[in-house]
Amino acid sequence: MHVAVCALILGMMMTVSSAMGQEKTWAIAIHGGASNIARDLSEEKQAVYKQGLTEALAVGQKILADGGTSLDAVEATVRVLEDNPLFNAGRGAVFNIDGFHQLDACIMDGSTLACGSLACVTRIKNPITAARRLMETGDHNFLAGEGADEFAIQQGCEEVPNSYFYSKSRFQALQAFQKQNDLPVLTSPSYGFPDKTVSMNSPSFEAMAEVGNTVGCVALDVHGNLASATSTGGRTGKRVGRVGDSPIVGGGTLADRQVAVSCTGTGEEFIRHRIAATISFRVEYLHESLEQATGYCINDVLKKGDGGLISVDKTGNISVPYNSGSMSRGVADSSGRFDVSIWEQPLP
Ligand code: ASP
Repeated sequence: MHVAVCALILGMMMTVSSAMGQEKTWAIAIHGGASNIARDLSEEKQAVYKQGLTEALAVGQKILADGGTSLDAVEATVRVLEDNPLFNAGRGAVFNIDGFHQLDACIMDGSTLACGSLACVTRIKNPITAARRLMETGDHNFLAGEGADEFAIQQGCEEVPNSYFYSKSRFQALQAFQKQNDLPVLTSPSYGFPDKTVSMNSPSFEAMAEVGNTVGCVALDVHGNLASATSTGGRTGKRVGRVGDSPIVGGGTLADRQVAVSCTGTGEEFIRHRIAATISFRVEYLHESLEQATGYCINDVLKKGDGGLISVDKTGNISVPYNSGSMSRGVADSSGRFDVSIWEQPLP
């Protein structure tokens, strides 16, 4: 064969193989919750929502691109989502059946398997940071209720009244839930509004009542380490004391040396099927690709409508499948990719 033709074929093969097998030096994915957002959601509302995702993703992207750790990236990214009332985490969290907020969060460092989980906290502005403090103290993996609040405050985490988490649209969602289930309908939250910046008439954030949900972030850093973080207000109308999958390591959150996973949807299902752990095991022991392992969980294990997840593996592959009507999400990596989406769009 002519030398030039051989060189051309070799060159093409190299291009294809490097594109296919190219390892990313860093990668990040976020979610703002699985939901059933109507496809006719106005352009305006979509834009507001995507803006929230974009702002959060940009924070994590910058940390990773600057050589920071995956742990710092997932914590900082989730904090932005917690502070944004559009999402059901931190400010804007849903109401439990008694008309107040109880929040769950988990963070995990894949390089050490260190993890910190908090459940049912009521007065910590950023539960994900409190979860990280717990992880770093190393004494315990999981604290719940009053002890978790107390721990976080002792650690210097910012304290807020429960009313800080209030949003009118979430309260209306609770009232609708109570009506649907033939329960007494509350006329106001069970707390007062000591913080004068928030009241029953605070902006409703109504535009997003139907879309904002649990938040999560997974990342691979340039040092080859994976991390995961999830934060949530749980489910509207949940029983007092109910804990979902988000703070359960191996249920709704996991990071190890293979994968990082953060789930969203009906927590009871994700716990029962230990979804995050199953993905890791399938990748490690069955040598499945991340896409195969997550696809198996979403399509063959969970029921349609249960929710979705975001995941990244140690080579920077990202997989973000869901079986609900929608899942707001974003991905970015060292190849220059940066994308946010609500339904199937240009994402893998
Ligand atoms: N998985 C969360 C929970 O069950 C809720 C959600 O992601 O929508 O607490």
